[in-house]
Amino acid sequence: MVRIIESGKKYIAKKLANQAVKLFGSASPKTLARLSSLLERIASTKDAKEIAANMRKMFETNHPMARWFRRVAKEVSPKCRDGFISTAIMNSMFLGLPIRMKFKNEEGFYPPNLIVISVTMRCNFKCPGCWAMEYSSKTPDLDINLLDKVIREGRDEMGIYFWTITGGEPFVRKDLLDLYEKYHDCFFHIYTNGVLINDEVADRIARLGNVAPMISVEGLKEATDRRRGEGAWDRITAVMKRLKEHGVFFGFSATSTRQNVEETTSEKFIDKMMELGCMNGWYFQYIPIGNNPNPNLMLTPEQREMSRKNVYHLRETKPFLE
Ligand code: SF4
Repeated sequence: MVRIIESGKKYIAKKLANQAVKLFGSASPKTLARLSSLLERIASTKDAKEIAANMRKMFETNHPMARWFRRVAKEVSPKCRDGFISTAIMNSMFLGLPIRMKFKNEEGFYPPNLIVISVTMRCNFKCPGCWAMEYSSKTPDLDINLLDKVIREGRDEMGIYFWTITGGEPFVRKDLLDLYEKYHDCFFHIYTNGVLINDEVADRIARLGNVAPMISVEGLKEATDRRRGEGAWDRITAVMKRLKEHGVFFGFSATSTRQNVEETTSEKFIDKMMELGCMNGWYFQYIPIGNNPNPNLMLTPEQREMSRKNVYHLRETKPFLE
């Protein structure tokens, strides 16, 4: 009997998820709050209920995150928007949870929420301070069949639908787009320098709908060109414009150093990233390893505190996810 009720709940949750995906582009915050409240009621785990409750509050109070959802609905193509919502939100945050609970009950610990895979150490750039360069000549790319097995087992046995792909530069590999297509119910979040995303690749990503490039920048033009080479900013922003034109969900990743942290965590920087079409962003703090490490670029304790405060301020004010 319990099993019948549980599978009934799963069925309703799936239907509701599909409905939510269709409604996202046009529904009012009030409708989305009601939908979240329904999800809250039928969610099968405590964690899922909590996530749904937070979403409901967010829509009820018109939090910047609710405005962010509207940006996604407006600026991202229907294919990429629906792909993002159904994989990164519904599958990863809700529908994967019963599998995760089962894993926990059998193994005694929770599986991770996401898995990061470094698929290659090769790269078309040579940035100072990059750890991947230490290994690029000695380390072969991860075998595609092994990657396939890891993703299948992670999804089916651990309920992991959110995959972060990193390198080196993941887009030097041409075989991965087929893998992302095969696992169309998973979300692939890809750290990239971006410049290999030509029109053909952008078009393929747009048609897949479950792939989100996170493009590396070092701040605005001067800081980005200083580390990545003259002209890097123009090439990167051209890629961002291309992805925006294709309606792809994408973002930035920035490494904060002693020299650029004020800029990377400023309103001016986030406004520029939003203007270029970024939906989210990731911050990393410089660690002196890899090619020509420089301890003087590490953040001071005061800068770490400032960075934390700045990011909290951005979260409370901007329709942006960082
Ligand atoms: S930092 Fe990124 S773009 Fe630069 S060399 Fe390393 S992997 Fe390549």
